[in-house]
Amino acid sequence: MASAEKIDIKSLFLDELQSELEKSAEPSYRAAQIMDWLYYKRIRAFEEMTDVPKSLRARLAERFPIGTMDIIRVLGSRDTTRKFLFRLSDENLIESVLIPASPALYGQKSDRRTLCVSTQVGCAFGCKFCASGLEGFSRNLRANEIVDQIIAIERASGERIDNIVFMGMGEPLANFDNVMRAIRIINSPWGLGIGARHITVSTSGLAPQIRKLADEPLQIRLAISLHGATDVVRNQIMPINRRYNIGMLLSACDYYVARKKQRLTFEYILIAGVNDSNDQANLLAVHAERLSAKVNLIPYNTVEDLSWSRPSQDRQEEFLSILRAQGISATLRREKGSDIDAACGQLRLQTKRKFSSGAL
Ligand code: SAH
Ligand code: SF4
Repeated sequence: MASAEKIDIKSLFLDELQSELEKSAEPSYRAAQIMDWLYYKRIRAFEEMTDVPKSLRARLAERFPIGTMDIIRVLGSRDTTRKFLFRLSDENLIESVLIPASPALYGQKSDRRTLCVSTQVGCAFGCKFCASGLEGFSRNLRANEIVDQIIAIERASGERIDNIVFMGMGEPLANFDNVMRAIRIINSPWGLGIGARHITVSTSGLAPQIRKLADEPLQIRLAISLHGATDVVRNQIMPINRRYNIGMLLSACDYYVARKKQRLTFEYILIAGVNDSNDQANLLAVHAERLSAKVNLIPYNTVEDLSWSRPSQDRQEEFLSILRAQGISATLRREKGSDIDAACGQLRLQTKRKFSSGAL
C-alpha cells in the first residue's frame, strides 16, 4: 500500500474502500465499519477507530490520511447568517456560508439550514461583479475538501445542515469529477445521507458540462447564473458568455430539463443600470417560460474595488412584478447577511488583504 499515491479517505466511495481492503484480505464488513466512524461518529483520527485492528489503522493512515481543515475566522450577522473561513493544508483559504431558512426569533431555533460550499480556490471565470474571480484561480478542491466543509461546520455550529448549495467560491462544473464525487459522498446513506433534492449545483453557464450533468443519474437540482437576458448584457459582465452564448446555454438547459424532468432556477443578480431594465425583465420572462424555470432575483452585494451598485427598492420590485405579470414564479431575495459580505469570495478577499497589509 505504502508506495501508491496518498488519497484522503474522505474522497473514497464505500465500494472503493471495500476493494482496497479486500486486497489485504480484510473481512467484508470492515469498509462499512470505517465509513461509520468517519460519517456517523465523525472521528478525526484513525486511533479513535477502536474496533479496527491497530496494524490496519496504521496502514490506512499511511495510504489514506484523514485530512483536517481549520476554521480560522467566523463572522456572524444579526440574522444569524454565518460565514466560515477555512485554511487548507496547503495554506490556501476558502469560505462557506451557513444560512438559516428563517431567522432565529424569540429564542427559537430556525427550522432549516443551508450551507453554501466552495468548489475551487478562486475562480477562473472572472465575472465582473464577483469577489471570487478578482484574484484569479489557484486550484480545484478535492472531494474531501468539499465534504469536510459540511462536517467541520456541523461540528463547529452544533447544528445539522439540511441543504447544500454549490454557490460558494469557484465554478463547480469546471471541477466536474471532484464535485460529482463529493456529491455522491454527501448523498450516500453510508456518507452524509443528504437527499439529492436537497443538493443544488450552480453554474455560470458551462453548456457542455450542463449536458454532461443531465446524463448523470442523480436527481440533484441545477441553478443557472444568468444575470442578463441578452448576449450584449451578459458579455459585459460574464466573460463565459463569449464562449457559450445565451443560445447555446439555453439549448443545454432544454436538454437538461428534458432529461431530468425537473425545473431549474435562474439566478439573476440585479445590478443598477446594467441588467435591471424592463426590456431585460421581459426577455428574462421569455427564457423562463421556455424552460418553466423559476427566477431568483438577488440584489447586488457591494464588493470592495468594484463600482457596481444595486438598484433602488422600487426598481427591484418593478422588475419582479414584470416577471410575475407574465406568470413566472419569481422571488426577490432579501439578502440575509449582506451586512457580513455574504456573497462568497468576499471574506477571503478581505482576509487575504489584511494578511498582506499586516493587519491580521
Ligand atoms: N460559479 C458558480 C457558482 C458560484 S458563484 C456560478 O457562478 O453560478 C456564487 C453565487 O454568488 C452566484 O450565484 C453569483 O451570481 C453570486 N454572486 C457573486 N457575486 C455576487 C455579488 N456581488 N452580489 C450578489 N451575488 C453575487
Ligand atoms: Fe466564478 Fe461564479 Fe464568481 Fe463568476 S460568479 S467569477 S463563475 S464564482
